[in-house]
Amino acid sequence: MTENLVIIGSGPAGLTAAIYAARGNLMPLVLTGQEIGGQIALTNEVENFPGFPDGITGPELVQLMQKQAEKFGARIEIDVVESVNLKMHPFQLKTQNGLEYETRSLIVATGASPRRLNVPGERELTGRGVSYCATCDGFFFRNKEIAVIGGGDSALQEGLFLTRFASKVNIIHRRDALRAQPILQDRARQDPKINFVWNSVVKEVRGNGKMESLMLENVQTRAVSELPAQGVFVYVGHIPNTGLFKGQLEMNDEGYLQVDAQLHTNIPGVFAAGESHDHIFRQAVVSAGYGCMAEMEAEKWLANLK
Ligand code: NAP
Repeated sequence: MTENLVIIGSGPAGLTAAIYAARGNLMPLVLTGQEIGGQIALTNEVENFPGFPDGITGPELVQLMQKQAEKFGARIEIDVVESVNLKMHPFQLKTQNGLEYETRSLIVATGASPRRLNVPGERELTGRGVSYCATCDGFFFRNKEIAVIGGGDSALQEGLFLTRFASKVNIIHRRDALRAQPILQDRARQDPKINFVWNSVVKEVRGNGKMESLMLENVQTRAVSELPAQGVFVYVGHIPNTGLFKGQLEMNDEGYLQVDAQLHTNIPGVFAAGESHDHIFRQAVVSAGYGCMAEMEAEKWLANLK
């Protein structure tokens, strides 16, 4: 069977595309990736998604989007696409579960993943103190001193969340000015459990079997110091999940897909939505909007194909 539309990825972009495509009777197939929901599913509190004045947790928001898509007939499969062939039409896809699909149109909504620090000890101590998800792992650090790396919205928002558990949260930032929104900055500066360590980068994560400390370097003085911490949460930005499409879809040096204003990639019938191409806004609501746009273009494209 040839699918009308396959959507790769199940964050706000992918699930919004699925809602629109299902309502358009395309019977879309969503291949979710490792888990459903993407990055928003790892976010504890979503306060700025319109329609939820009291906030909503990321996993709840994903569940609602999934329910809405399935209600109209979207099929959502937990599976990871391992290879794509976009050089022939219909496009060919192979997945980790050993399935093969062919589809007339494709929306790439693969999003982005947390960037690693790439310092000694980080990989070895991941899951033993090093984490990229406060919602998942915060609970393990009850009454412990921990660190958060980064100065953006994620670092501050998740740092604030971690004060529910940790006795002290050291936010380590490579500059002396934060990138995060003022509202988060104000909250963090007023929180007695939060301590800022400015102009500092992590050189090493130390520990024997479990994390014990961070080696920090002051970027101005070059002084190196050791900060005791039983956990570290890394929020230093993202890299787009577009490796699968190298050599087939045009992308910039950082791996973000190149699209036109209507979200068409260089291959007719292949569209991108969300953080696989958007390196500027990276908001759940923006990704949802891109999901809608990509689907409307895919629908038009399919109609012309017939
Ligand atoms: P981000 O805005 O890209 O911030 C990354 C932070 O990490 C920056 O402070 C950056 O420092 C620092 N950094 C980058 N590479 C580093 C390295 N190698 N070592 C040390 N520090 C490093 O990423 P984000 O905070 O994850 O946010 C991503 C997007 O999601 C943004 O658009 C943000 O607005 C959005 N977001 C929104 C909310 C919300 O609305 N509540 C919540 C979370 C995320 P510099 O500042 O010096 O570059």
